[in-house]
Amino acid sequence: MRPADALDRIVYLLDRDLAETTKVRAFARARDVVIDVGDEEIERLHAAGKLTDLPGIGPSTGGVIAQALAGEVPGYLARLEAETVIPSGEGGALRAALRGDCHTHSLWSDGGAPIEKMARTAIALGHDYMVLTDHSPRLTIAHGLNPKRLKEQLVEVEALNVELAPFRILTGIEVDILEDGALDQTEELLARLDVVVASVHSKLRMPEQEMTRRMVMAVASPHVDILGHCTGRKVAGTGRPQSQFDPDIVFAACARFGTAVEINCRPERQDPPEELLSLALDWDCRISIDTDAHAPGQLEWQVYGCDKAARMGIEPERIVNTMTADDLVAWTATHATA
Ligand SMILES: [Zn+2]
Ligand SMILES: [Zn+2]
Repeated sequence: MRPADALDRIVYLLDRDLAETTKVRAFARARDVVIDVGDEEIERLHAAGKLTDLPGIGPSTGGVIAQALAGEVPGYLARLEAETVIPSGEGGALRAALRGDCHTHSLWSDGGAPIEKMARTAIALGHDYMVLTDHSPRLTIAHGLNPKRLKEQLVEVEALNVELAPFRILTGIEVDILEDGALDQTEELLARLDVVVASVHSKLRMPEQEMTRRMVMAVASPHVDILGHCTGRKVAGTGRPQSQFDPDIVFAACARFGTAVEINCRPERQDPPEELLSLALDWDCRISIDTDAHAPGQLEWQVYGCDKAARMGIEPERIVNTMTADDLVAWTATHATA
């Protein structure tokens, strides 16, 4: 096993396990250093006992490199492979029915990997497509894409699609729902994208009535296809309470305007909570099971959402990402008028 491959796989598994960013970064940096330095020089430094002289190589990353060079599977890697497996729970059949993921990020905004790497991982996981939904301009902390950069991204996606066919990267955005319910991207671009996920990322604690109006405005837009992580809650770390809105009004609007409600699979979000999800089902909303992955290993998180959906008895026909890419794009093009 090449040292760079061992380190890359460790990064993948740490991301799958939602490990601390500092730890993931340390292994990612070591991987990049090893790639830069080259296999031959790495072997020479190892033989001279000088691996840790390299910037970014410490005892643990150095140990992984040494074991890989000795032809062993590094112990740390083997342990992570075993310990970070995501149990499929009750969602195995549903996961097998999903053909793609409608909410993913890349290095273009705040993700940790290039588009191509996300796409190749999605292929390895058996997906037919992946919707690329990087952030919109006003989310500056996440390097949201202004119209110019988004257009540049569309060019890159087109080129990658030639290379990766029959797999498809569908174009998309996670567009911010602004405080007045407007969407943070130009009409022209929103109309051009295959899939639009709309999410609230600011002023999460505005009064209930204002938040309800804000969300209804967004989900009623003919451009919006999926309502992302609707409550904004965080259930891990310091946590974050749910935004207050009238769920009957918001979900009725989703049903009326053909906007799917997302099951956000991120372990620290698990959004919406089950009681709200069952209300969305009562309103006959469509559902999308998305990872909101910011790194390749996180693309495996759909398993969590599938387990939840299966436990709640959600039928595959109601889930938009059981559709083929062609059907999905046909749906996003027409659902607003259906
Ligand atoms: Zn988001
Ligand atoms: Zn996102």
